[in-house]
Amino acid sequence: MKKRYRDYNAHLREIFGQRVQKIAVDAGLTCPNRDGLLSTGGCIYCNEKGSGTQAFNRGLSIKEQIEAGKIGAIKKYKAKKFLAYFQSFSNTYTSCAHMKFLYDQAVSCDGVVGLAIGTRPDCVDDEKLTLIQSYAADYLVWLEYGLQSAHDITLSRINRGHSYKDFENAIALTFGRGIYVCAHVILGLPGENRAMMMETADIIAQSGIHGIKLHLLYVVRGTALDDLYLAGHYQCLSQEEYVDMVCEFIERLPGNMVIQRITGDPHIEELRAPEWAGRYRETFNLIQQALEEKKSFQGKKFTG
Ligand code: SF4
Repeated sequence: MKKRYRDYNAHLREIFGQRVQKIAVDAGLTCPNRDGLLSTGGCIYCNEKGSGTQAFNRGLSIKEQIEAGKIGAIKKYKAKKFLAYFQSFSNTYTSCAHMKFLYDQAVSCDGVVGLAIGTRPDCVDDEKLTLIQSYAADYLVWLEYGLQSAHDITLSRINRGHSYKDFENAIALTFGRGIYVCAHVILGLPGENRAMMMETADIIAQSGIHGIKLHLLYVVRGTALDDLYLAGHYQCLSQEEYVDMVCEFIERLPGNMVIQRITGDPHIEELRAPEWAGRYRETFNLIQQALEEKKSFQGKKFTG
């Protein structure tokens, strides 16, 4: 079935003419919202792994992680080209010299054609972006900013430690450097209703960024959100609600934006709720089906 939105694989095929497989790496960095600079607790849904693979703690260098990831990608997809995805924590929250050390290792691996770097909007500056820009001449470079919501009241409620303005400043500083910009957004954040989430969609749609990752808010055991959930102060979205909201969110985005993700994929052993969040493939398929049934497509409600 042809996708009713511009997905990441299609974007990569447009550029490279073949499948490009993303390999997640863990650079062993941290985040100002965890190490005490802004707070020690982090975002209310984040645990101490910070979406990480823990590979760094197992003593694996970036190069070793990529070489290990390539084995699986070659076997499963016959992939010949790869994107190194710096996923865990904030991957620009270190010195420029250390960033260069990390990224150089990644691009030195055979078949690596690009970098995807996850970070926070308050962890970039001109010097860091100039370094990242230097890779964009020879490699595909995506910079992924965690935003989650365009509403400051929500960002404060989830203890993000940055505002929407910080995101605006970061993307303004990033544009014009040949770097693709992606934002992460979470649906189902505490205190947000559907209208607020759709406002975030409209703001993102007008922002000029190139890509988005949509996630469901799920409850990870041992987090502040887990406490709220167990105390009955947070209710998860139903799968039906989530599927329906993703369809509308996609409709509001411009047709050329790359939709890199439409739901998250939690570690089952850490997942408290909702239980359906553990069935990634099912939710993914339900979204495709709903888009078909509604004759919905990316850009349908984009007002330009
Ligand atoms: S910014 Fe990312 S790593 Fe830092 S606390 Fe929030 S979710 Fe965790």
